[in-house]
Amino acid sequence: NLRVRFAPSPTGMFHVGNARSVLFNWVLARQSGGTMVLRIEDTDAARNRPEWVQGILDAMEWLGIGPSEYEGPLFQSDYAQHHREAIDRLLAAGRAYYCDCNRDQIIARTGSEHKGYDGFCRNRGQTVGEGRALRFRTPDDGSTVIVDLVRGKPTFDNALIEDFVIARGDGSPVFLLANVVDDMVMGITHVIRAEEHLPNAPKQQLLWEALGAEPPVWVHAPILVNEKRQKLSKRRDRVALEDFRAEGYLAEAMRNYLMLLGWAPSGDREILPWDDIVAEFRLEDVNPSPAFFDVKKLRAFNGDYIRALSVEAFVEACQPWLRAETVPWRPEAYDASAFAAVAELAQTRIAVLSEIVPMVDFLFLDEPAADEAAWAKAMKADAPALLAAVVEAYETCEWRAEVLKATLETIGAERGLKLGKAQAPVRVAVTGRTVGLPLFESIEVLGRERTVARLRAALD
Ligand code: GLU
Repeated sequence: NLRVRFAPSPTGMFHVGNARSVLFNWVLARQSGGTMVLRIEDTDAARNRPEWVQGILDAMEWLGIGPSEYEGPLFQSDYAQHHREAIDRLLAAGRAYYCDCNRDQIIARTGSEHKGYDGFCRNRGQTVGEGRALRFRTPDDGSTVIVDLVRGKPTFDNALIEDFVIARGDGSPVFLLANVVDDMVMGITHVIRAEEHLPNAPKQQLLWEALGAEPPVWVHAPILVNEKRQKLSKRRDRVALEDFRAEGYLAEAMRNYLMLLGWAPSGDREILPWDDIVAEFRLEDVNPSPAFFDVKKLRAFNGDYIRALSVEAFVEACQPWLRAETVPWRPEAYDASAFAAVAELAQTRIAVLSEIVPMVDFLFLDEPAADEAAWAKAMKADAPALLAAVVEAYETCEWRAEVLKATLETIGAERGLKLGKAQAPVRVAVTGRTVGLPLFESIEVLGRERTVARLRAALD
């Protein structure tokens, strides 16, 4: 029975690479009736923080992977006894030895920072002692072939695999060993993770073999790159899932997009129902070349997903942004029926939910947003006279979008202005912006009193 695991380290923000890894694992478990284990690799005590653990659980839940979807969370720190036992077995079998070389000594002997360990302590017969790390004795000849569903059978020459450290001077296991032992104890059959870990795979496979177990099938999903083909980096690129969520990306759009980072469904389809993704995904079809994490494309996906919502669902989805503490209007000024009246118009015009706030703020602010650049652009010399005529007409005309539009059209025509030109100063006076929702529908919802007051204020 297939058992996969997602094994994040709680040392930072949950990023899009983590998200893609957990989705690939979860989809595979789903479609094969297998199990996904969530293992928190919390043995780097200096860098772990409890809030990052919570961040992992929250991010997964948001993506649709709630607690009932996985086994765990299991914590690597609870498996110390297993790590210890594995280390003892390797020692007893002569597969590990103590070493007290420091980095400078190794570089001095090999003449390079990149050659790795030279095996100096291999046969010195040192026993456990202060500052002595434990190294794994790798085979001198032959090769290690890993079975990777995405990459075929990468083959590594054993002579080039250094005797790597498995436990530190204080006896604590390093990542390579703890990760393998946990996978073994947890019965993992497929290790699906990012390409960054590919160089670890031959070392880890040697550990599996030395511990007498059948190695897993490996899957190293392609690295994610930005538009300059640089590997995504926390410092340079926007990668935290939380940031996308806060900006108003929908989880459904996000997970659809993330699944395409290395994989493509058949045909030209890119946006497809989750059930189809689960049914069609094949690890064998994952492309090993770097995958471009294209935020523009993700935005476009999100816009499509927003437009596919029912209006009611859209109104609901906007609530966290409209009721956030950071809104520019007085919270009690929010008017649900005014919002409902423009929601459908707004739904087709935003790509991320946070954009709803500047789009409808004119309905709830006491005065329109003060965008100096917009004023400068729209308030040309002829604007005051035009606005004065509009005020006069709007004080008495029937208050319906079509009538409001026809009225302004007439006033503009009298001055030789097309509707678009005549509309610009009115829009800025009423909404504070040069772009936004269809103007006359907006004005209809805003009401005569406030519209006229804003037009007058613009004349002062
Ligand atoms: N804790 C490792 C990481 O987050 C896990 C690597 C693996 O999946 O084996 O990169």
